[in-house]
Formats: sequence, C-alpha cells, structure tokens
Amino acid sequence: MAGMEEWDDKDLVMISAIQHYSYCPRQCALIHLEQTFTENIHTIQGRFVHEKVDQPDSVITEGIRYETALPLWSGRLGLIGKGDLVEFHGDIPYPVEYKHGRKKHQIHDELQLCAQAMCLEEMLDCAVPKGAVFYFSSRKRREVLFSPILRQKVEEITLHIRELFKDGQLPPAVADTRCNECSLSESCVPELVGNRSTLKRLTKELFTVNQ
Ligand code: SF4
Repeated sequence: MAGMEEWDDKDLVMISAIQHYSYCPRQCALIHLEQTFTENIHTIQGRFVHEKVDQPDSVITEGIRYETALPLWSGRLGLIGKGDLVEFHGDIPYPVEYKHGRKKHQIHDELQLCAQAMCLEEMLDCAVPKGAVFYFSSRKRREVLFSPILRQKVEEITLHIRELFKDGQLPPAVADTRCNECSLSESCVPELVGNRSTLKRLTKELFTVNQ
C-alpha cells in the first residue's frame, strides 16, 4: 500500500469508523476501541446485503468494469478499508456503498462514501466527483456529489477519531432517537449514561434498598 509506511497501525482509521463516528461517537468507540459487537435486525440485514459484495471480483459488462470488495487506502489521511463496489466508467471510478433498508438521506452514509472516493483519488491519481449509496430493500440508488464541505468533514472526523483512539475514553451517550436503531444499546445502556439524573435516582434507590 503505497504511502502507508509512515503510519503506526494504531493510528490508522477504518473508513467504516467515519460512518460510525458521524452516527454516534460513542458507537465508534465501542466498536473500534472496545471491539464491542452485538447483532440486531439491522446488523443481520446489513450482513446479508454485504454478502453480495464482500468477495473480491472483477467483471466487465457493456464497457463498465465492476470491482467488488476493493481494498482502499489513503496515505495522506491514514485511512484504510474496502469499497463494496467500484464501477469504472472509462478511467473514472464511481464508488457504490451497499446499505440495507429503503432509500433515505443519511449524512453518515455520504461521509463513508466520500472517504472511499478520497482514497480512490489518491490511489489512482484521478478525480472522483460522485458515487452512490445503493439501498437494497428498495433496489434504488441515491447519487452523492463529493462537495468540498463533505470532503472537509471527512478530514475533520478522521482527526477526531484518531484523537478518540489516543484518549481511550468512551464519549458520553447521545441518548436520543439514534439509540432506537443502534445494535449496541444493550452494551451502551444509553438511558443510564446519557441521563445523569436517572443514574443518580437509580443509585439512590439501590442504596435505600440495601439499608
Ligand atoms: S445506544 Fe445510543 S449512545 Fe449508545 S452507542 Fe448506540 S447510538 Fe450511541
């Protein structure tokens, strides 16, 4: 992997961590710092969808080359990961990220895709202006343009994640609607850690019972 020699393994950031961090920093830390993983309906669906693209393969159809499970990296940003699907329209790569569920706007999916594009640009020395998120349930794609703002956000989040790894502390729980779909809610217990007054009340109740 050209350009990666200068990075310590501990400082490399997985591209998927960008999606996790932008969804919830605590989720990112639980997965990438503490290696916590729990299945729920969303992770099972996600695994099923990714089985379609998790083996490296290369196929050319009607002049377009389709590469699945393509290794990606950026020596400049210290990012590594793989692209579910990268289409090559001539010399221009077009990354496609597979997600379960129906077509919807999710900034964290866009950031993950944009990080893939930035890796491809550096690896292949070309411009990657756009890509798409493919939603398996609705079989629909949503095209994403890689704007300067999106690119800047990818760089900022990569730095935040590296700081998080150095710090080694779990960030506070967001304790909002994001937790409803999070597979880690049982390990995280957001209703306790996100709400100090609840924690205080439960501690008081426990203390009272033990008197
Ligand atoms: S349960 Fe909520 S706070 Fe905890 S990791 Fe998931 S989204 Fe973040």
